[in-house]
Amino acid sequence: MIDITYLNQIKQKFYFKFNFCFSFINYVIQVKLSHMIFYEKSNATTELPNLAKLSAKTKNMYVKLFTGNAITQAQSKNLADAICNDLGVPCCPVDFAGVQRHSKSNGRIRSKTLGDYHPTTTKIRLFQLTAAQKKTVANKTMLNTLLHELCHHFDYKLLSFYSSKHTKGFYMRIISLHKALLA
Ligand SMILES: [Zn+2]
Repeated sequence: MIDITYLNQIKQKFYFKFNFCFSFINYVIQVKLSHMIFYEKSNATTELPNLAKLSAKTKNMYVKLFTGNAITQAQSKNLADAICNDLGVPCCPVDFAGVQRHSKSNGRIRSKTLGDYHPTTTKIRLFQLTAAQKKTVANKTMLNTLLHELCHHFDYKLLSFYSSKHTKGFYMRIISLHKALLA
């Protein structure tokens, strides 16, 4: 005689496992799809919005720093604040750090970090000394790094992306900001 209770238990176990697998696969597909959609969105956004709102004062500040000597932490912060205010984005802290973070292999520098951005604290760090010779980083490199890190900030606070990746569109957005500041 077949034990109905036992059969029902097996049926329930099977359904649970099947449902769990189905839900998990469905979840993986959803995550993959949202990543693909996000990546495409980031890639397709080649210009920052509101660039027409950049004031003459902000542009003058940028041109002065771009053609000037070593930029200070206060000047970096003032410029970042001015750009953020013009674009209607909350300002973020800008700190200068020491030597560029780097990795070596066979005594040679293989990679280095010019700056970084932390989405949780919204803090930007700029490394002002070169990895090899500990010399002050060139002004234009510092400004380029500042715009790069600011664009990470804008990905979250202006474009409302849930993540900020180095897509082709991301680099185009940096160029669009640089050109608008020099216009
Ligand atoms: Zn980056």
